[in-house]
Amino acid sequence: MELSAYPLELPPDDRPMVRFMNVTKSYGSLVVLDDLNLDIQRGEMVSVIGPSGSGKTTVLRMLMTLESINGGVIYIDGKPLTHMERKGVLVPADEAHLRRMRASIGMCFQHFNLFPHMTALQNCMEGPVQVLGLSKAEARDRSEELLKMVGMIDKKDQHPSRLSGGQQQRVAIARALAMRPRIMLFDEVTSALDPEVIGEVTEVIRRLVAEHDLTMLMVTHQMGFARDISDRICFFYKGKIEEQAAPEQFFTNPQRERTQQFLRAVK
Ligand code: ADP
Repeated sequence: MELSAYPLELPPDDRPMVRFMNVTKSYGSLVVLDDLNLDIQRGEMVSVIGPSGSGKTTVLRMLMTLESINGGVIYIDGKPLTHMERKGVLVPADEAHLRRMRASIGMCFQHFNLFPHMTALQNCMEGPVQVLGLSKAEARDRSEELLKMVGMIDKKDQHPSRLSGGQQQRVAIARALAMRPRIMLFDEVTSALDPEVIGEVTEVIRRLVAEHDLTMLMVTHQMGFARDISDRICFFYKGKIEEQAAPEQFFTNPQRERTQQFLRAVK
């Protein structure tokens, strides 16, 4: 589809928080996302699962605007993320547009990437002060509240090297939330953790899902966790959504042969 055929904005009555519209991503001749269409509604929690190499991480990286797009348009709350309007049509977004749009998206990675020379509290305050322009006092209040929520308030003055992996990941979640994103992305947030601390991170995410009206997209290998907290499971296979359904339906009665095979293999 030509870019001129895409709406400059989505109409108010058809405006999911995230819309992938005919999105194609390739590296050379390797097609990683193949004409992907995916809507995520406001307040919805979607888990993306699938075999290695099926394009799951690429979906997140496109939302983080870490990757260029080869075809299609991504909309955030009805506004194009990957593109911007020029003379009545969409053109590829420039850096300033991406930076503006990125403000509504928070992310947590497998490797938490906390600033090593800052305490837990300073890590959380940095973005709100530097990027959002909050006063230090405001940023501190906000950060302390979030550190409380993730159960890390008594470690607020520790540097990351003094914290366990699970604790670092909880600080990373608080840090992302301190920017008040409308969408949170989680990329395998538990896979670099020791088994005994996975529970504390999944508990924090579970609480987030229950208490906040955030839209969330999570890539995970933990089927039990995905089943527990998601509104919807999307199973990716070779850059396409092979099957998607509510967790109960998806795990107890998968319709597609490939889904059944995958679920047998990960059991
Ligand atoms: P998943 O998260 O499902 O394991 P990815 O989205 O990471 O899959 O990757 C999908 C495919 O894209 C894989 O075949 C991977 O090797 C390829 N790929 C990812 N990033 C790059 C890159 N920067 N250059 C070339 N190929 C890449």
